[in-house]
Amino acid sequence: MKMLFDTRGQRYEAIVRKHARRLPVDGHPILVRQGWYPLVEAMLDQVARDHPTVVFSRIQAGGGWLRVDVENQSRPFDPRDDLRLSNVIQGFVTQSLSTCEDCGSHHGRHVDATAYGYETGMNRTLCEECVPVFADLAIATLASKNKEPRDA
Ligand SMILES: [Zn+2]
Repeated sequence: MKMLFDTRGQRYEAIVRKHARRLPVDGHPILVRQGWYPLVEAMLDQVARDHPTVVFSRIQAGGGWLRVDVENQSRPFDPRDDLRLSNVIQGFVTQSLSTCEDCGSHHGRHVDATAYGYETGMNRTLCEECVPVFADLAIATLASKNKEPRDA
């Protein structure tokens, strides 16, 4: 079954290793599907280069867009630098709205999870080819959810 986030594999581990010092320390430091790996890596590369003090407290897909939080005390001291950092991050968040979470194509569109029996928190950004993957995931999860009460 497809998992909610892709948190293993060589690509994932390489990104985490390269940026370990600016990522959350608990659990899986990056919670996105594999289609967003290049997006997240590009954001980390640019922040590492332009704002080396910054430490992230959250990098996570949620509701179809990339959610990014920065540790307050690690933000640039100069307000102009801080604004530049916010603009950099916002640029990648905006890209996430059209980048397929599964395959990384730039033809992603917002997919309403309620059409598949999910809550809006499961909304995703997917391209046309990857929407069926989402439907399979939703059906598989619903089936296992429905089975539990009957087995109990
Ligand atoms: Zn796709």
